[in-house]
Amino acid sequence: MANSVLTPAHPRATDLGSIDGLVRELRATYDSGATRPYAYRIEQLDRLDRMLTEREGEILDALASDLGKPAIEGYTAEIALCRNELKYLRKHLRGLMKEAKVSTPIFLAPAKSTTVFEPLGVVLVIAPWNYPFQLAIAPLLGALAAGNVALVKPSEVAPATSALLARLLPQYVDPRAVKVVEGGVAETTRLLDQRWDHIFYTGNGTVGRIVMAAAAKNLTPVTLELGGKSPVYVDAEANLEVAARRIASGKYYNCGQTCVAPDYALVHRSVRDAFVSHLNAVIEEFYGKDPKASADYARIVNERHHGRLVRLLEGSGTVAAGGVHDVSDRYIAPTVLVDVTPDAPIMADEIFGPILPVLTVDSADEAITFINARPKPLALYVFSERSSVGDAFVERTSAGGMCVNHVVLHLTVEDLPFGGVGESGMGAYHGRASFETFSHRKSIFRKPTFLDPKLAYPPYTAQKQSIVRKVL
Ligand code: NAD
Repeated sequence: MANSVLTPAHPRATDLGSIDGLVRELRATYDSGATRPYAYRIEQLDRLDRMLTEREGEILDALASDLGKPAIEGYTAEIALCRNELKYLRKHLRGLMKEAKVSTPIFLAPAKSTTVFEPLGVVLVIAPWNYPFQLAIAPLLGALAAGNVALVKPSEVAPATSALLARLLPQYVDPRAVKVVEGGVAETTRLLDQRWDHIFYTGNGTVGRIVMAAAAKNLTPVTLELGGKSPVYVDAEANLEVAARRIASGKYYNCGQTCVAPDYALVHRSVRDAFVSHLNAVIEEFYGKDPKASADYARIVNERHHGRLVRLLEGSGTVAAGGVHDVSDRYIAPTVLVDVTPDAPIMADEIFGPILPVLTVDSADEAITFINARPKPLALYVFSERSSVGDAFVERTSAGGMCVNHVVLHLTVEDLPFGGVGESGMGAYHGRASFETFSHRKSIFRKPTFLDPKLAYPPYTAQKQSIVRKVL
């Protein structure tokens, strides 16, 4: 395979017996107040920034080892995205930490009302394998910026990145405030037995339910960054060449293993053949005649997922592009399927691989009805030159986020909160939303003592009651 070595041995898991002690140590650090000052928070962010610069090569190597990730995809989606987040948080942190005045009703005067964001405390971040570096570090940046301590549990399915995070983080950030636990179900289960002040989980909905049930025992708030089937609608009046290029770029990036990748396409019947022929051309433009030999095309994370995808590929529709696979290289060609029915196996769950089923519809209305009959997706994409079509989807569908005439890029805009709705998750992060997710917005009411009219206190005389009724 062109751009990776295959995955190394499973990482050593953290000793289960040490987990309680790690969490106790984190709580002691939080209780000491050390992580609250602005200067401390900024220093941690600076150190993580230094890690991104000084260890870029090691990070990209680990990603290539786990996912055959092309270096530029590792750089853009993992390192640059974290750097964006860092830049935003550093620029705005002082302002975000400031106590903010809100208005106070006149009958309470003289008084002052404010809100201030306080840290939540001891935070657990559970990361998945598809962007194994960024999806561990970006939430950690938010947690630290908000003044918390954090334990990071990288995905065991991306063992090289997991091992790297366990080695690097204690070298860069305050080891009293950030811990890493490596491992799988047993270690995560032990972690979920602890009392946390927030759990930030990214991954699939089945485990999301396990996380939420465990959190409920301590009334711990959760952020669940989940997935699902993110649809793309291609209108009769779409710019088909651009649509095909943008959809293919979002679908085949990281070999389709992206939570916001377009999962399936609903294409207007009148343009289906033209759209599929543009897709074929674009796939060749991106990856050449043999994508297997391309240095710009990643691999499926492991044999289990490879087998799952091959079964989907062989059980649904007709291959209109790609279709080739090789388990020894964990390779699946960028693939397009046509003649796919809504009840085909590939339409049951999130695909999470480089296979794009194309279904036909006769109108935008039909696409909206199709989407609304299914769980709310993490992302929804519409391609049309008519703004009324994009607007109809904005108004009449529900999704974590949307792009009109593009895919995926909404998550790179720091001022757009990123998260799901319904089955695709709850809560959001990125930019200001990261800071708020890991904070409690505390309300404060301050009133001086020089004026204390008896009007508000018993006994409630008739005269007092009549005045109160005039004021309120
Ligand atoms: P995964 O298998 O790495 O699991 C995620 C985490 O859950 C890991 O740390 C793992 O150790 C832990 N885990 C697994 N089984 C567990 C169990 N029984 N109990 C407790 N913890 C357990 O990753 P995944 O779930 O395969 O990730 C892919 C999914 O994540 C897709 O659905 C994708 O759409 C979604 N995703 C969402 C986002 C987002 O930002 N919304 C980003 C990336 C991926």
